Amino acid sequence: ELNVEDMIKWFGLANEKIQENKVYLTKLDQPIGDGDHGINMARGYQEAVLALQAKEYNAPFEVLKDASMVLLSKVGGASGPLYGTAFLKLSMEVKVKEVLNLQDLANGLEAGLTGLKQRGKSEIGEKTLIDVWGPVVDYFHKAGFQPDNLTESARKAMENTKDIIATKGRAAYFKEKSIGHIDPGSASSYLIFEALAEVIK
Ligand code: ADP
Ligand code: MG
Ligand code: MG
Repeated sequence: ELNVEDMIKWFGLANEKIQENKVYLTKLDQPIGDGDHGINMARGYQEAVLALQAKEYNAPFEVLKDASMVLLSKVGGASGPLYGTAFLKLSMEVKVKEVLNLQDLANGLEAGLTGLKQRGKSEIGEKTLIDVWGPVVDYFHKAGFQPDNLTESARKAMENTKDIIATKGRAAYFKEKSIGHIDPGSASSYLIFEALAEVIK
């Protein structure tokens, strides 16, 4: 279950992981992109965490809405509008509930995934962050939720993007040459879900 404090903790933990992996995320974006994903995400999450600390919240959806607005405006690149949309849809789906259970999260993340697909005009299997969100949503809908297994399924999904030919975003310009590289957005999404698993624990 997640309340307002947990929601803020999620963004704080995700921010720590993103700052720690800023260079790594940027390195992933060099061979199949423009080498800025770590910079984009580190800036956006830092700003989001600062914004969340400056306000009082009554329900998780308010935290998610503010975070989504900051990510939308501060991350930049393709990933800014994508993450902004995902968290906004998640916010809208969980509505005014003060405590979110696993079912709320499953439905909310599914709404986020639908938002990502619409915004990116993308589907599963195109070597984007959707390839992590898809399996994570599936995992949330399964019975017997275990935080460690959430992390593991997100990690596997991220690793699997290595084998995919990119057909969306900058990586699509590299065609077959995009094979063998982890998608940077999948790696940042992995960190975000690893942080979520630690908050749910
Ligand atoms: P940019 O490519 O504009 O420099 P980033 O480097 O911050 O932006 O983010 C790149 C990531 O965004 C990719 O690794 C991929 O996961 C995601 N992405 C890019 N385009 C799309 C799209 N059309 N649909 C879904 N995800 C996308
Ligand atoms: Mg980039
Ligand atoms: Mg860029």
